[in-house]
Amino acid sequence: MGDKQKNGKMKTCKYCQSEIPAKAKICPNCRKKQKRIGKWIVIAIVIIIIIAAASSGSGKDEPKKVGEVSGSSGEGSSNNGGTDNKQNQEVNDSGFNVGDIVESENLRITFISTSDYTSDNQFLQPKEGYKYIQAEFEFENIGKNDEFVSEVDFSCYADGYDMEEKYFDGASLSATLSAGKKTKGAVFFEVPADAKEIILEYETNYWTEKKIVFNVLKTEGE
Ligand SMILES: [Zn+2]
Repeated sequence: MGDKQKNGKMKTCKYCQSEIPAKAKICPNCRKKQKRIGKWIVIAIVIIIIIAAASSGSGKDEPKKVGEVSGSSGEGSSNNGGTDNKQNQEVNDSGFNVGDIVESENLRITFISTSDYTSDNQFLQPKEGYKYIQAEFEFENIGKNDEFVSEVDFSCYADGYDMEEKYFDGASLSATLSAGKKTKGAVFFEVPADAKEIILEYETNYWTEKKIVFNVLKTEGE
């Protein structure tokens, strides 16, 4: 069956250096076995990589809610427009809400509060029709290795549009957390004052692009 191949591909016998058919398992000249183990090692490595990649992305590490802050959602949770936050929590089945404690692979994230933010820096003020919002978080490293946490890993969308992040002194979230350690801080964004829906996305894993969605504001109706 396999004899179809003519003298097309040739290789050199490792032992006697004579030219032999590439497919020959035994050298016709010196009768030595032509080892092809190199190829199999490559294939085995590829398979291992595929299995590793598949299992790491298999969803077993999906972020999940593990609790709520006791006596949660104080004044900080009040959204603009007097929307009742309790109601929102029942409406939103996607994303997490103020007071939720979320665990992903290596981080336990507490969504502490959201509120409008007033800058007392006269040079740092929202443009017309916009306002600043802040969202306060606590991050705890529940993994075994250092975890790098940063406000730059947050994205904000207001009614589907990407919003600009703002940075104010003293409230930074950025930290390299050793195992078991925590950091607390806020992120700031400039959003339209009349936005109806505001969400934050936090990228927990740069390589897999895993994101956790936090609901900042959701207004019912049109
Ligand atoms: Zn040979």
